[in-house]
Amino acid sequence: MSCKTTPDGAARVTVIPGDGIGPEVIGAARRVIAATGVRIAWEEREAGAVVFRQGLPSGVPTETITSIADTRVVLKGPLETPVGYGEKSANVTLRKLFETYGNIRPVRELPGVPTPFSGRGIDLVIVRENVEDLYAGIEHMQTPGVAQCLKIMSRKGCEKIVRLAFEVAVAQGRRSVHCATKANIMKHTEGLLKRTFEEIAPEYPGIEARHIIVDNCAHQLVRVPEQFEVIVTSNMNGDILSDLTSGLIGGLGFAPGANIGNDVAIFEAVHGSAPTIAGTDTANPTAVLLTSAMLLRHIDEFAAASQVEDAVMRTLEDGVYTRDVRVEGAVSTTAFTDAVIARLGQQPRVATPARAHKPLQLPQVESRPDYVSAGRRRAIGADIFVEAGGTPESLGQSLEALSESSQLRLKMISNRGTKVYPSSGAITDCVDHWRCRFVMRDAEAELSDEVLLDLLHRVRSRHQWMHIEKLNEFDGALGYTRAQGED
Ligand code: NAP
Repeated sequence: MSCKTTPDGAARVTVIPGDGIGPEVIGAARRVIAATGVRIAWEEREAGAVVFRQGLPSGVPTETITSIADTRVVLKGPLETPVGYGEKSANVTLRKLFETYGNIRPVRELPGVPTPFSGRGIDLVIVRENVEDLYAGIEHMQTPGVAQCLKIMSRKGCEKIVRLAFEVAVAQGRRSVHCATKANIMKHTEGLLKRTFEEIAPEYPGIEARHIIVDNCAHQLVRVPEQFEVIVTSNMNGDILSDLTSGLIGGLGFAPGANIGNDVAIFEAVHGSAPTIAGTDTANPTAVLLTSAMLLRHIDEFAAASQVEDAVMRTLEDGVYTRDVRVEGAVSTTAFTDAVIARLGQQPRVATPARAHKPLQLPQVESRPDYVSAGRRRAIGADIFVEAGGTPESLGQSLEALSESSQLRLKMISNRGTKVYPSSGAITDCVDHWRCRFVMRDAEAELSDEVLLDLLHRVRSRHQWMHIEKLNEFDGALGYTRAQGED
């Protein structure tokens, strides 16, 4: 990986100090990087709370976007979305604007940081999909009392994150990659990630590839964390698992991270702005220092990156720590940073020195829009979502009467995923949000838009509909799931 340089050879990097403890920990990182001798031309830009308060709803000004689009490498402090300003997080906006699809969050046991897992040798990386899934942020109130969030996962998104995870394993000399999904329940979304993982894994024969159900993964992470090396997972699962793994090694003050895209890489610690300790010179800069080491590797400064990691290890081994580890004997952010700088060039005495890294090969995935075509596709029906009071029986009978002369017939109605009409005897606590599944009366026939529109006209004569999903078969396979209790 390379970066852009100034005419006198300094690497150009956009820096966003951020909110709360951001300026303190980012300042520490800049001092440590300068002390390694790596020359960086920092382009300081704003985002987050200060920008929201200036009245910009995105929290990310044009000057920041322009700088990032130009330098393509960012060191970012935490950003707040103050209550009452902006609908969207400036963090998520930055990740999405530059399609940083992969979030890499390594954790490693740290000397002198006591945890219930000390001595177990935890050393793993979470590779989290960063732009799709439930965090695509596509939400609707479907009725005044029922909310929906769309879980969008694409084949292309799955391929990129799976390839990135294997490439991280190769770059770091890891022997195994686990793919953590909830494919047993969400067969189409999480299942797509599992299937893509299984397709791509044989391309990396030297790396053991295993699928694990994500809830068991959380359980195993707490029981036997040392069994994991690289875990690839979807956006929300990765968000949760990576906070869990931060906890395993001593907390958010120690957890670095990077958001990687084809064009731009944004380096930021996992932690937020910790407003309660902002401005007190007590924040732990370790997470951002380890994040800086990741940035240094990204710009091909491998030796300096290892120096920073080794110096942090040595500092902790020497019993220098901040308040989040122990209050008694804790030093300030500034003093901790000074201690790291003083140890640059020293190896840890007990901990393993920094892992050897090869350059990370970014997956080469086409940047044009991905169109996955099926050999055969057939629309065989539609789910019409209806807002209605009353009982399943009254709604079912009404819809059957309305669709009597339609080419579509009512197959079933479900409420929050469970079939309630025709009744199977299940005891379901219903709400006013019904999925009414219609299929073609002639099982061989294809649903046309005219037939669907005709049905919608009929339904709306008595009921309020708010959403439709076509039921498709792709190459003979169902492109939708059955309701609980539906045969
Ligand atoms: P947080 O800022 O990560 O802080 C949670 C707690 O973790 C802090 O109160 C502090 O614990 C401890 N902590 C975090 N970083 C630390 C450090 N470097 N040194 C020492 N202790 C540290 O999470 P939050 O309170 O949920 O979020 C605060 C704000 O940050 C919110 O506005 C949130 O939206 C934002 N945020 C931004 C990002 C990002 O920019 N990527 C990520 C997460 C959250 P004690 O209270 O025990 O001292």
